[in-house]
Amino acid sequence: MKFANESSRADVVLCTPSWHGPNMAVNDVRFVASSRLPTRWGLFTAYAFVDSTGKEHLVLAMGNVSCGEPILARIHSECLTGDALFSLRCDCGFQLRTALKIIGKEKRGVLLYLRQEGRGIGLHNKIKAYDLQDKGADTVDANVHLGFEADARSYDICKPMLDHIGVCRLSLLTNNPSKVTAMRELGFEVVKRMGFASPRTPHNEAYLDTKAHRMGHLIEPDAS
Ligand SMILES: [Zn+2]
Repeated sequence: MKFANESSRADVVLCTPSWHGPNMAVNDVRFVASSRLPTRWGLFTAYAFVDSTGKEHLVLAMGNVSCGEPILARIHSECLTGDALFSLRCDCGFQLRTALKIIGKEKRGVLLYLRQEGRGIGLHNKIKAYDLQDKGADTVDANVHLGFEADARSYDICKPMLDHIGVCRLSLLTNNPSKVTAMRELGFEVVKRMGFASPRTPHNEAYLDTKAHRMGHLIEPDAS
């Protein structure tokens, strides 16, 4: 069996991994493998990780990611319906594609794809929450009605993943100020926040308004 040589990989410079974190779950995040990942926005290197619960997470990296100049970073939580199935109920797919496009244009950046579907409640519960929203609840009330927090995500696992590839200074692509706070609390220097201007549609405007008014998201004006 013939393997491509190292030079055909995306241009990613690695630092020595340093494993530390506030709890066992974070320490238990383990690097598994990496490979080339060509996309329509350019060539990334994909790094696969597994956490202590068996969930598989991914980092896509392009360019020199090691510490120095701040790097474009998107912390993206899985949304199967929005990312892969073209749902118009949310702006996740738009944010995912836009982040990869911006990174591709800059030829440098990282995207963390975290397997915490439906703001951490899982796919089936997200569909239940959508059903409640069809009956009039907003996204926060629907999650709470199902017995969950409005946002059950955790970003602790970002620490060992970004440490592994040597990232420490970030220009964060997000509308969510709590993500900036979370990354700073994990010890990363967030030098800038860059927001998304998600297109508003009749299907997502209530969702976008709820994120702005009840979850503190800073929604950029729709540029479309
Ligand atoms: Zn979504």
